[in-house]
Amino acid sequence: MGINIALDGPSGAGKSTISKIIAKKLGYIYVDTGAMYRSIALFAMDKGVSTTSAQQIIPLLKDIEIELKYVDDVQHIFLNNEDVSEKIRQNEVSMHASNVSAIKEVREFLFNLQRDMAKKNNIIMDGRDIGTVVLPDADVKIYLTASADDRAKRRYNELLEKGQAVSYDDLLNQINERDFNDTNREIAPLKQADDAVLVDTTGFELQKSVEVIYSIICDKINNTNKVNDKKKSLSPLRILFYQIIRGLVILVYSIAFNLKVVGKENIPKKGGNIVASNHRTYQDPILLSFPVKIPFSYMAKEELFKNKAFSALIKAFGAFPVRRGSGDMAVIDESVKRLNKGYNLIIFPEGTRSMDGTVGKGKTGVALIAAMAQVPVIPVGISFRGKLKFRSKIVINFGKPILPQELEIKSQSPKELKVLKLKIMQSITDLVDLNV
Ligand code: C5P
Repeated sequence: MGINIALDGPSGAGKSTISKIIAKKLGYIYVDTGAMYRSIALFAMDKGVSTTSAQQIIPLLKDIEIELKYVDDVQHIFLNNEDVSEKIRQNEVSMHASNVSAIKEVREFLFNLQRDMAKKNNIIMDGRDIGTVVLPDADVKIYLTASADDRAKRRYNELLEKGQAVSYDDLLNQINERDFNDTNREIAPLKQADDAVLVDTTGFELQKSVEVIYSIICDKINNTNKVNDKKKSLSPLRILFYQIIRGLVILVYSIAFNLKVVGKENIPKKGGNIVASNHRTYQDPILLSFPVKIPFSYMAKEELFKNKAFSALIKAFGAFPVRRGSGDMAVIDESVKRLNKGYNLIIFPEGTRSMDGTVGKGKTGVALIAAMAQVPVIPVGISFRGKLKFRSKIVINFGKPILPQELEIKSQSPKELKVLKLKIMQSITDLVDLNV
């Protein structure tokens, strides 16, 4: 079963626009269930049948086949092999869709289709009853709403752009009427699922709504069992040992430096993540460990393992050797292995330290490991001025995880890996403050 996101809410709340954008970002399939009700309404309208009459609508269902297909990367809806994506958006179809959606048999007919899609794919599905009836076990449930006035205004502008002339007052009345129909019908009425997150976008620009919802989704997906089950947990003893040493080190460093950690909420509770940071000093792995409660593993240059005692010490803290300059596949495999064991893996994609704080180009190894292990990448920016001195101010800024679903890696070709590496390096750069 894929990851399922349910987005419900009243008409005109922006569900489909937002779902489309987020589905693209995550590489998920977007399922517009409203379009399915609209297609049935359109079919009935073409046949000249009353959309409020269950008796007349039910016999039509056997003649209806609905499919979602991608044409040039854009989703289209097909009714009996005819592309009706445009037609169903006509304003007069809306009310009829609301009418047919109150018929039990219509809902059952579409329920199976919707369920099937969710079984096979990672999807974001929008509608009225997705979190309550269609996908009660969805991984993420959001209830999106806005004032009727705001929703009517948005619809008005949308239709105006498409050249459809409508009066604002008519639209507001329609929205209120559809709200009433949808919330008061007997079967699958529109309501917020108990476990859905409520988002009220009244007064929000589209961009802001997308940001808020995307962030809720990322947090939830990151902590779902489907993502985390793949990650093994480290032994409690290993974690305890790390915690004690970490506590001591934090104490010493808090005295020696003026430390500030930003974005702690972006760190997943479970291990098995890549922490990709800019590289300023040999103390970076220690600095990165302050807000992270799961032990780290990291690559260190081979020379550091020559002295037996020192080698044992850094190995105890998760270091493993890497030969500089070699595209060592064994190191990649070891990294993936450690991530699978449940360690967080620190990677400094730049390879060497930056003396002046500017972030270098980075190597694609980080992208390859992320793609192979299919784990989140947490970008981090470490900032301080000049050389580290007693009481220097150090800011460690943890960014939002880049999720495996977002990695957009299909073939692991050099071109794809480069795109991903650039994305990771840009995120790191955005988190570094040269004027700290
Ligand atoms: O979302 P959209 O406005 O395209 O949906 C058209 C109509 O279909 C809605 O007014 C609503 O009555 C109905 N609908 C529904 N359940 C869904 C999706 C849409 O009842 N899951």
